Amino acid sequence: MCLFCKIVAGEIPSNKVYEDDKILAFRDIAPQAPSHILVIPKTHIPSLDGVNEENVEIVAHIFKMIPKIAAEEGLTNGYRLVSNCGPDACQTVPHLHFHILGGAKLAGEMA
Ligand code: 5GP
Ligand code: ZN
Repeated sequence: MCLFCKIVAGEIPSNKVYEDDKILAFRDIAPQAPSHILVIPKTHIPSLDGVNEENVEIVAHIFKMIPKIAAEEGLTNGYRLVSNCGPDACQTVPHLHFHILGGAKLAGEMA
């Protein structure tokens, strides 16, 4: 089981900010901004490259919920959404996740 599947299963604790039957949002263990939340599907999808006709609905649901999670977090002045896909993007956990970063003026450059 991958690290984030273990978090979904409750085998590894996490600081949850939102949960429903399809997705989980929790605080990143090593925050890179004052607010750094990870949003993941509860089912294992390795990365954006694993999105397909069968599972795209859960990704749509994640995108529907991200503005609500950001609003609940108080990110009224904006936020950044990041999904690292594969080695060149330095993806370290092989389970699709979206980083919500905010709570301060972020760097203008992304890479
Ligand atoms: P990636 O580098 O794959 O885009 O992002 C993985 C993220 O997961 C990193 O920002 C890292 O800090 C975070 N992370 C790794 N292990 C854990 C963990 O056990 N708990 C939490 N909450 N975040 C983790
Ligand atoms: Zn997984």
